[in-house]
Amino acid sequence: MQGPPEWGTLLRRGVTKKCPRCGAGRLYRGWFKMKERCPGCGMKFEREPGFFVGAYLINFAITEGLLFVVIMVFIFWKDQHPDAGVVVPLVIGLIFAVVAPILFYPFARTIWSAFDVGMTPLELKEIVEATDAATDAAGSDGSGPALPGTP
Ligand SMILES: [Zn+2]
Repeated sequence: MQGPPEWGTLLRRGVTKKCPRCGAGRLYRGWFKMKERCPGCGMKFEREPGFFVGAYLINFAITEGLLFVVIMVFIFWKDQHPDAGVVVPLVIGLIFAVVAPILFYPFARTIWSAFDVGMTPLELKEIVEATDAATDAAGSDGSGPALPGTP
């Protein structure tokens, strides 16, 4: 089994909501509910309890970055227009602070997953489980484990 993909590939897959290991899409049921395993390669996304705390960090960083941009734009705007009020930038900042984490949530999870696969390649046990899960899913189109002898 080869090692994890290159960092560029991992991050590109992360920001496009793809599986970092194989690049498969459709990892979510709805906007918030991530499938337990990749439908392509069978990798379990939550590799250990509390795994996705890192995703919250990524989401937080993205939101803070956006708020930083709002503040910088306001500072430059205020410099040009000394009479400008503070209400509009406050409202924009508030909307960003609420909406951005919701919008970026699924991306934060796949980005975090990409970082993790890059830093901690899958162990043999995980690879075997993933292969088993992917084989089972292929044998019964994802509805459950395939039983020997069933068509
Ligand atoms: Zn995959």
